[in-house]
Amino acid sequence: MDLLEYQGKQFFAQFDIPVSDGRAVTDVDAAVEAAEAVGYPVVVKAQVHAGGRGKAGGVKLATNADEVREHATNILGLDIKGHITRILWIEHASDIASEYYASFTLDRSAKKHLGMLSAEGGVEIEQVAVDNPDAIAKIWIDPVDGLSYNQAREWVVQAKLDPSVTDDAVDLLRKLYTAYTEGDADLAEINPLIVKTDGKVHALDAKVTLDDNAEFRHDWDEYATTQVRDVREQAAHERGLQYVGLEGTVGIIANGAGLAMSTLDVVNQAGGEPANFLDIGGGANADVMAGALQVINDDPKVKSIFINIFGGITRGEEVAKGIIEALSLVDIAAPIVIRLDGTNAEEGRALLEPHLSDKLQSKSTMLEAARAAVELAES
Ligand code: GDP
Ligand code: MN
Repeated sequence: MDLLEYQGKQFFAQFDIPVSDGRAVTDVDAAVEAAEAVGYPVVVKAQVHAGGRGKAGGVKLATNADEVREHATNILGLDIKGHITRILWIEHASDIASEYYASFTLDRSAKKHLGMLSAEGGVEIEQVAVDNPDAIAKIWIDPVDGLSYNQAREWVVQAKLDPSVTDDAVDLLRKLYTAYTEGDADLAEINPLIVKTDGKVHALDAKVTLDDNAEFRHDWDEYATTQVRDVREQAAHERGLQYVGLEGTVGIIANGAGLAMSTLDVVNQAGGEPANFLDIGGGANADVMAGALQVINDDPKVKSIFINIFGGITRGEEVAKGIIEALSLVDIAAPIVIRLDGTNAEEGRALLEPHLSDKLQSKSTMLEAARAAVELAES
């Protein structure tokens, strides 16, 4: 789950990473009260799950109550990349000498943590990566070894940070690594990581993504309340389905994550765009199938549905019965193409046979089924 900036800063503070004193508020009066409490000058910051808030007018300095009132009024309700601002973070403003970039994330192919550090912070790191890739110092950290003092120090030197802050930066980056690993984050990013005019390093922004699979180890309830979920993903989640919403028109149901991913690929190969990833797991009984069909049916972009099932432990005729029963439970708008293979697939297909029509087709291979589904989506 993605944290808002202020939640990320609270998360950082638990690991002793320096952040500014601030308050989260939801109305103008409370914003003024918060500013009085943290002391002027303050920064009024939109709290949305999107970056580039500064450019969008969602980050403003204020030196008195009138300015706080003005900025809070303008920023509340502001649309930033499709996210409407409902929460403001009011923090004591910092005097900035330099803006750097620092992050930890997982490099899955290297099976290591990746640290990125740059003296060119404040701007979007993707842009730095394009314009001046050498300005980003990268390190790969073996999760067993962790980030040693020496490795962190070499990294800071390599990134050409101001030499006078080397010790402070090493200390902060090691704390950030601890927050990232012990805090079970998938991403911990500070942009900008600043050097203040008094020479101290400080996290001026926070972007944190927590690993949902580690939730049982933590108390993340308060973060969950501000999550904005795709409505389709919310509905799928409530039904216990493994669903990821995508932008295309071919709804997908498959059993097993691997098969579901291959199904996305084969739909792409057939020239179509998947509307979702959906893994209904091994069972594929009528209830699960009906729930999956319901979620896909509620997606207005879906123009056809591709059900791709490989019978393993679940036999083909069980799957077919499940599909037939599910179809009697849900009134499906889009045409469906089924590919049923694996254990007892023939028996399953025989059961489906009497139900087949223009709106319910059966194909024997994945590619044929994908082509049919893509064609239906485009017709
Ligand atoms: P983002 O645009 O969503 O990444 O929001 P940030 O929190 O990174 O803020 C954007 C920019 O606003 C920063 O890069 C700073 O230049 C500026 N800014 C934010 N907070 C302060 C502050 O306390 N003092 C000053 N002088 N500038 C700030
Ligand atoms: Mn930022």
